[in-house]
Amino acid sequence: MIITRKKFLQLTGVSALAVAGGKLAGVFADTVEVSEPGSITIEAGQRLAMVIDLVKCSQEDNCTKCIEACNTAHNVPVAAKHEHRIQWIWKASFKSAFPSEENEYQSAGLKNLPVPLLCNHCDNPPCVRVCPTKATWKREEDGIVMMDWHRCIGCRYCMAACPYGSRSFNWVDPRPLLAQENPDFPTRTKGVVEKCTFCNDRVAKGELPACVSSCPQEAMVFGDLGVADSQVRQLLKSRYAIRRKPELGTKPEVFYLV
Ligand code: SF4
Repeated sequence: MIITRKKFLQLTGVSALAVAGGKLAGVFADTVEVSEPGSITIEAGQRLAMVIDLVKCSQEDNCTKCIEACNTAHNVPVAAKHEHRIQWIWKASFKSAFPSEENEYQSAGLKNLPVPLLCNHCDNPPCVRVCPTKATWKREEDGIVMMDWHRCIGCRYCMAACPYGSRSFNWVDPRPLLAQENPDFPTRTKGVVEKCTFCNDRVAKGELPACVSSCPQEAMVFGDLGVADSQVRQLLKSRYAIRRKPELGTKPEVFYLV
């Protein structure tokens, strides 16, 4: 079933709130149509973030383009066994992604809506604090939470600290599991943790993340929260956005428009 924007607003109750609230009408502006440039330029002092429009995302039924593009770009294997699964970006239901947003009156359509999830590149990342070898750290220049797979000793403290399940552990050698290896990106080994890096390698070349470029609905927008007129800032100003588990104080930099 394709869930349209109108349908999504009905599911979330936002449109009813806006109409019934009177004063609230107009607060929730309609979708901002801003053209997304195909490239990004990094300057000092930037704060990179992603905004995912769930209205647009839900219009493409059973779409996995972002996941496929990420897996191909980063040599993420598709493991047959669930316990060996590696995931940089994946989909889960709205109710499991946003447990604090759930209530008993929501429709099954909203509760089960597939939502793309990835590392939130938290502004206050608990994973970074617990790493004993500094194999994961937050970059000063743009806020990306990085991984150095050569420094990872596989202790998995970061996995325990991440409240979003954004990290995966290589229980087996991932290389034989790759259908086709991308020679432009390093493969990992058994015994290390990995996760999304906001495509720091592509960003360094002025390219957008693979998931953003591959989305047929242009539902994913990547940009700089430090620039007032950036597309991400414009979207967050004009649309209602939620983040995963904000009560934990991790300050996720992945926002979801509803
Ligand atoms: Fe760390 Fe998890 Fe936040 Fe990513 S989502 S920065 S892995 S705590």
